Amino acid sequence: MRFYAAVIINRAVQAVNRAFTYKIPVALQNKIVPGLVVKVPFGHEHLEGVVVELLDQSDREDDTLKEIEAIISPNPLFGEDLLQLSQYLADYFLSTRAAFLQAMLPAGLSLTGHLPKSSLVEHFSIKIQEPVKLRSTKQKEIYAYLQQNPDAEKDVILANTNSNLSILRNMVQKEYIEKRTEMRWYQQSLKADIEFIKPECLTIEQKEVLDRLQKNAAAERKPVLLHGVTGSGKTELYLRFLEPLLRQGKQAILLVPEISLTPQMVSYFRSRLQMPVAVLHSGLSAKERKETWLGIAKGIYPLVIGARSAVFAPTPNLGAIIMDEIHDGSYKQESQPCFHALTAAKERCRLCGAQLLLGSATPPVTLYYQAQQGEYLLLQLKNRVLDLPLPRVQTVDMRLELQKGNRSMFSGVLKKQITDTLTEGKQVILFLNRRGYHTFVSCRSCGEAILCRHCAVAMAYHQEEQVLKCHYCGFTQPIPEICPNCGSKAIRQFGSGTQKVAEEAAKLWPQAHILRLDRDATLQKGSYEQIYKQMYQGEADILIGTQMVVKGLDFPNVTLVGVLAADASLFLPDLFAEEKSFQLLTQVAGRAGRRDLPGQVIIQSYQPEHEIIQAAAAQDYATFYHREIAERQMMQNPPFSFLIRMIVSGLELEKTAFAAQVLHGYLHRHLAAEEQLLGPQEAPLAKIKDRYRMQLMLKGTDLFLLRLHLRNALAEYQKDGKIKKNIRILIDIEPISMM
Ligand code: ADP
Ligand code: ZN
Ligand code: ZN
Repeated sequence: MRFYAAVIINRAVQAVNRAFTYKIPVALQNKIVPGLVVKVPFGHEHLEGVVVELLDQSDREDDTLKEIEAIISPNPLFGEDLLQLSQYLADYFLSTRAAFLQAMLPAGLSLTGHLPKSSLVEHFSIKIQEPVKLRSTKQKEIYAYLQQNPDAEKDVILANTNSNLSILRNMVQKEYIEKRTEMRWYQQSLKADIEFIKPECLTIEQKEVLDRLQKNAAAERKPVLLHGVTGSGKTELYLRFLEPLLRQGKQAILLVPEISLTPQMVSYFRSRLQMPVAVLHSGLSAKERKETWLGIAKGIYPLVIGARSAVFAPTPNLGAIIMDEIHDGSYKQESQPCFHALTAAKERCRLCGAQLLLGSATPPVTLYYQAQQGEYLLLQLKNRVLDLPLPRVQTVDMRLELQKGNRSMFSGVLKKQITDTLTEGKQVILFLNRRGYHTFVSCRSCGEAILCRHCAVAMAYHQEEQVLKCHYCGFTQPIPEICPNCGSKAIRQFGSGTQKVAEEAAKLWPQAHILRLDRDATLQKGSYEQIYKQMYQGEADILIGTQMVVKGLDFPNVTLVGVLAADASLFLPDLFAEEKSFQLLTQVAGRAGRRDLPGQVIIQSYQPEHEIIQAAAAQDYATFYHREIAERQMMQNPPFSFLIRMIVSGLELEKTAFAAQVLHGYLHRHLAAEEQLLGPQEAPLAKIKDRYRMQLMLKGTDLFLLRLHLRNALAEYQKDGKIKKNIRILIDIEPISMM
């Protein structure tokens, strides 16, 4: 008998971030299990909490302990692994267990216990083996049915017997049968709508890698980093690795960047595996998400595919987590609770004895370094399958174009190549590095750009609607006729967004069917699939897009990729700007010529001699890595140190700056000599959604100590009476972006 339960209160604040002990009342004995949501008295309130552990003994006198009042969720919402993971992540990311428990649930399920009626199903079973008197034939019929089909669902019973609900209820009342309530789960359509062909055999290189992967999974089960050039057949390896594992009754989670989670991609796995595959993506309604999640918890899906938060999918018997395109920024959650899905996946695999497999053509420098230090088993695919050559990459110096009097966005070389490609009936992708490069409106008299009044970010000009839009908060306003700064009428738009490129392209190639793929073009539901399909089926000739075209798309007929402005992301005020630029350019270049056609890539730049651009053009990860790691070592940046970034935000600039100063003061007192504290200063995005943002950065070689010092400083800061209530602090452990 377990008489006590440790409960985490559903409040994401540090003050209650620990387990509280409650007595289990006699009526609930044997019904309380870890993972259940319960109602408990707390102070003068009655709050929800999650049972995380059952205890034989209590750390306190019995009569000072309160009792659990009720069970809220009919079934446990968390398995043992996820309960433990919440503790690990709360410690690691300096957050609370409640915040992570909340983050683990899908929209539509929450810890507050308000389950919509529709999501509960009733099951019935026989209670008394030999009932005394079953009077009606209808009762007998139900009884006979339940003998054949124990634990049947209400609707199924009603459909298969000549009875009705009141007869069922009556039998329950007489205790002939008993009722059990369960949450409804949802079975996604399992059919693959396209059939894909399985490659006859693996290449020698693929075979070797698969062999080492399987040997490792059977023995040491070290986390694996698979570094394979674009088009080297990583996906094929994932499939061949997963199949036997799933046939043994284990489940796996495949994480992909949000943007590459296309229906085609999912179809591919369904078709190849011929098994139920659950998909967790933002396009599902809250109800679908919740019910899919419950289905996963029942273990009916061998494979779960999803973006970042699918790392918390409640698979009961986890055998592997695969993270594709591990360099992708969408694996990091930048809002509370900040966390990286890799940290979660690694620990979850450790807890479950599952295999972790990371794949990328451009692994993050930190990860690659750790792999070389032996933290990961490093496996390499150096060649494209079937000896497909890497695309030929050419750089164009845009400074010379300007000297030649070419003011267009297209260099002479790119123009000619596009024309040739279209003439051959092939397709073209044009990539525009959008970050910091979209069309904005600025004043020719004073030079000021129009900024969002809530975010202090340059507003983007949208020609179709003739408005200015903020890409951070969505605020929209008409284009002002006079400059809000100086009153001049000389106000006009600059830069080149995808719209402008599309317009210019339409003039140059009037016969071509041109598509745009960017955030605005895909806001409407389904339009992304539409664009993808048109491109895939060859109905479109030119696809113009931002970061979205880079990620994992595989179009058989694309032979030319043009990068319009390669430098745009290179000079951002970000420690990781070069790494990100390299990844982006390498991935773009990898889009060309993925089948039996040779690919051609043209990179336009104002600095084509830049080492990063050269390395990306040569698809040369090694050169990039050695340059970058040497620089990191010299500057003592990650992986040679750890960073913690703090964003202090508030509604008034002065009070925000003051709070940042106060925090700085407390931190300063706790730091060890080798630890550095930078700031406070304005964050690169100094204002977002009406909140001013100040940034502090901690740097040191021992993450454990850094966190400890920060925790102590925060505790003192919280007690400081001078700090206003509406100041927030966002803690970002191991940031991957400074923007
Ligand atoms: P990556 O994920 O490394 O970019 P993919 O797994 O998408 O590469 O493979 C690129 C293409 O090569 C795909 O169309 C895939 O079907 C094909 N492919 C992979 N392995 C083989 C193989 N052994 N034989 C023939 N084709 C293969
Ligand atoms: Zn002005
Ligand atoms: Zn805004």
